[in-house]
Amino acid sequence: MHEIGLCEPFVEAIERRAAGRRVTAVRMRIGVLHRVVEPSLEQAFALVSAGTVAEGAAVELVTVPARAACPACGWQDETAEPVALCPACGASGTELIGGDELVLESITVAENGTPGASGTPREEVSSDVSGDSR
Ligand SMILES: [Zn+2]
Repeated sequence: MHEIGLCEPFVEAIERRAAGRRVTAVRMRIGVLHRVVEPSLEQAFALVSAGTVAEGAAVELVTVPARAACPACGWQDETAEPVALCPACGASGTELIGGDELVLESITVAENGTPGASGTPREEVSSDVSGDSR
């Protein structure tokens, strides 16, 4: 289950951001090329986050589409996998743009840790966690 390896940098980023507060929900943006499905991601996240502040947090997956682009004619479209031949002009050598994102978009922290705090407990993070993938 390759989702475990994907979840590890997310959990590290969540722990840094939460700074000891309890995390109840996380939202992850993951490029379509990683071929992550939400049930597997939830299972992997539960394993990796066990014993951390993110244990038991709800996981929301936002799949980021990739785009295929043809340098010959300028055609572009969303795609979930590399496109061998341009459907517009038939040229080979189409390029794949994006789709490999690994971004922690937001975390929601438990309110009971900060009584009287105003505002939403949800924090936008938008942290790219793909830098230290192992
Ligand atoms: Zn083309």
